[in-house]
Amino acid sequence: MDRDRILLTPGPLTTTLRTKLAMLRDWGSWDAEFNAITAQLRSQLLDVVHGAQTHVVVPLQGSGTFSVEASVASVVPRTGHVLVLDNGAYCKRAAKLTQMMGRRASVLPFAEDEPVSAAALDAHLQRDASVTHVVLIHCETGTGVENPLAEVAKVCERHGKGLIVDAMSSFGALPIDARRIRFDALVAASGKCLEGVPGMGFVLLRKAIVDSCAGNSQSLAMDLHDQQVYMEKTGQWRFTPPTHVVVALAEAVQQFIEEGGQPARLARYADNCKTLLDGMAALRFKPFLRAEVQAPIIVTFHAPAHPAYDFKRFYAAAKQRGFILYPGKLTQLETFRVGCIGAIGRNQMREAVNAVADALREMGIPDGAPAR
Ligand SMILES: *Cc1c(COP(=O)(O)O)cnc(C)c1O
Repeated sequence: MDRDRILLTPGPLTTTLRTKLAMLRDWGSWDAEFNAITAQLRSQLLDVVHGAQTHVVVPLQGSGTFSVEASVASVVPRTGHVLVLDNGAYCKRAAKLTQMMGRRASVLPFAEDEPVSAAALDAHLQRDASVTHVVLIHCETGTGVENPLAEVAKVCERHGKGLIVDAMSSFGALPIDARRIRFDALVAASGKCLEGVPGMGFVLLRKAIVDSCAGNSQSLAMDLHDQQVYMEKTGQWRFTPPTHVVVALAEAVQQFIEEGGQPARLARYADNCKTLLDGMAALRFKPFLRAEVQAPIIVTFHAPAHPAYDFKRFYAAAKQRGFILYPGKLTQLETFRVGCIGAIGRNQMREAVNAVADALREMGIPDGAPAR
């Protein structure tokens, strides 16, 4: 098959030819032209959430988790106390990295199939004044549930707490308005809804807290304050930039703007998600989440109950037909996930559903009905 496989995963994901072609040039990290690309990209990233007045954006080498870790290390003082609102795997990862950064970490647990509750956070903060910062995962990619960012931000503001948002799988797709939603740090990455290639994250830091980040990080490389100061002074990245990733993201953001920005991206992903849900429902697959809390980013489906079902075989059969599925991330239930994001549209989602139907047929499974 000479066509690239379609990645139905939450990053890396399918990119356009234009984005791939942008990576065919080499760039020097000192070069003024490259630095101009970084500068323009930074300002465009701020514009995605209307953050030019209130925030700065600090890019960081590495996968998205590097930027979450750097945010905790840079924003939270070493004596700080972080409360993680936990309704899934990425929340648990955030709690773990907070602990490993040497910060006191507490977890407020919620059910995996429901959004976290701003009212429960409010009650918790009334009980425990020692919390200094809250961590929220905007879209919990482990299940696909959307968490109430605006409400959580309001509670944090009312209590005078810092807020770190992992918006990795929502940035560019779900609406976020930095003029109305108060956050100290908001983290995203190149290889998610902006449809770049993986390799860099970026953090929007509220201007008012940037100076207070100095000296917080115990890591040389994962220090957003140092990266920000150095970039402002020199226009350059502090250490070797992921040059090809940067120019690919710049090209991807250009296409994002041409498509119509966040509203257009959300509309396409919502259509992808609906096409997927309708097609899978016709095959009797059941989504893990109720529709009201499902973000149009990634869908978790229950595994078919049929004894012939095996994810590895299912995966291989779909792959043979050109589609890459994603394993589930729930500990209690057997599930799999299908991403709705990337440079794909309704036709690819229809083809993906056909590939799933063919895969079932090949495995001798009549339909996707889960155990009752
Ligand atoms: C993708 C993602 C991350 C980062 O994962 P990496 O594997 O480090 O890129 C973090 N949080 C969420 C919610 C994500 O979807």
